[in-house]
Amino acid sequence: DQIKIRTALLSVSDKAGIVELAQALDAQGVRLLSTGGTHKAIAAAGLPVTDVSAVTGFPEIMDGRVKTLHPNVHGGLLAIRDDAEHVAAMQAHGIEGIDLAVINLYPFEDVRAAGGDYPTTVENIDIGGPAMIRAAAKNHAYVTVVVDPSDYLALIEALRTNEGQTVYAFRQKLAAKAYARTAAYDTAISNWFAEVLDIEIPRYRTIGGVLKEEMRYGENPHQSAGFYVTGEHRPGVATAKLLQGKQLSYNNINDTDGAFELIAEFSPSQGPACAIIKHANPCGVATGPSLKDAYLRALACDSTSAFGGIIALNQLLDAETAEEIVKLFTEVIIAPEVSDEAKAIIARKPNLRLLETGGLPDPRSRGITAKTVSGGLLVQTRDNGMIEDIDLRVVTTRAPNDRELEDMKFAYRVAKHVKSNAIVYAKDGQTAGIGAGQMSRIDSARIAGIKAEEAAQAMGWPEPMTKGSAVASEAFFPFADGLLSAIAAGATAVIQPGGSMRDQEVIDAANAHGVAMVFTGMRHFRH
Ligand code: 5GP
Repeated sequence: DQIKIRTALLSVSDKAGIVELAQALDAQGVRLLSTGGTHKAIAAAGLPVTDVSAVTGFPEIMDGRVKTLHPNVHGGLLAIRDDAEHVAAMQAHGIEGIDLAVINLYPFEDVRAAGGDYPTTVENIDIGGPAMIRAAAKNHAYVTVVVDPSDYLALIEALRTNEGQTVYAFRQKLAAKAYARTAAYDTAISNWFAEVLDIEIPRYRTIGGVLKEEMRYGENPHQSAGFYVTGEHRPGVATAKLLQGKQLSYNNINDTDGAFELIAEFSPSQGPACAIIKHANPCGVATGPSLKDAYLRALACDSTSAFGGIIALNQLLDAETAEEIVKLFTEVIIAPEVSDEAKAIIARKPNLRLLETGGLPDPRSRGITAKTVSGGLLVQTRDNGMIEDIDLRVVTTRAPNDRELEDMKFAYRVAKHVKSNAIVYAKDGQTAGIGAGQMSRIDSARIAGIKAEEAAQAMGWPEPMTKGSAVASEAFFPFADGLLSAIAAGATAVIQPGGSMRDQEVIDAANAHGVAMVFTGMRHFRH
């Protein structure tokens, strides 16, 4: 159970804390072995350390591609210490046991996330490091393996209080972490290939990530939770800089992601846009002549629900928009950039979390989404279908006019980010009413209409904005009833995928009311 550490091999890319660890090991009388750069750092601190090339009898070759890939290293890590044959092999070949391996890998994930070029990224695939980690972890009955600098202190403490020995349970936990690390590392590599080669098929992708942070709790306080990052080169909640406010909660991260992916559908070149999200559904989305206007127009859609919401912006958060936002209780703001003046204004609300992403994600880019089911994972490519890329088919006698067409597209873009069944009314680049997540489409249509009426009352408008609006349904109307509800609310134009057995019934109803309808042929279910 107890293993005395006599020899340690240290080989780390991230040199943080390595000298302190080496000092503590040296103080315990541990013999230190090390690779080039790590050796240099430890020797510079005046500690005795042996270069691993003295162990292998081989210099590091091929720019470090081959440093530790040698039987003297791997035999030392893998030998079963009380197996007569293994011991005989060690003696016959002059192999010395290595009891502790401290290794962290070439920073492949960092290079990938920073958008490194192809050859640089490939060169950052560590070979010898994962081999040693896996060897040491397999032999955890005898060997201690440390892959995370945040475990150095625990190791030092364990050795100090236990006469330079580690216990089995400790080595087991470290071994579990070691394999999690190498699995995540290879996942990042294979997913980088899939990204570069533009491969969509999940078969070429692996689900996995590195734990970025543990959260205080999950969706509910009795659930524990962690945030794993995949290293995808994509601006968003995983890589954003938290400029102020508390750590994001599980629900914050989920909702903020939904908000930012939605707002990324609105290219800044087409003007400012704002989305306000609650429980992963938008409660208002709008464009506007200025960002402040876009925010106020988004807010007008459902100012009651916007309380405690998440705000996503498609461009620099400026001072005048910040002044408006701080008037209401908001949980999170996410924007590509934030002006210094806006930062100062938001600072007046110290609890408001402010995230800066440095850019917008490409809504057309591929990638995968996943959800767990009992005993499995459902993996699919991201819904990167864009209304701009679709040839719309007019199916009614009356064709939509230009304004209706614009509102239709706007509504459809938003509907893609609303939980099914989704009904979205829009007028003049602003949502007029949103119905989300109902089990029947007619209910979503009714709710969206009610929301629009409430907004008109709250804002003191003479009539709800659904009058003369366009309405989007993210999947086909199975019956005419949902459409008739939208027409009753005042919609004059309809956009939907089509494809129902009763399409003709729905088209007839539209024609009977002089409504223009287009089919997209592309469904946007979201569950
Ligand atoms: P150093 O800075 O000490 O020269 O190199 C440390 C890094 O080299 C660590 O990240 C370790 O995982 C990696 N490494 C150790 N042995 C090998 C090897 O044989 N091949 C490759 N490609 N990397 C290695």
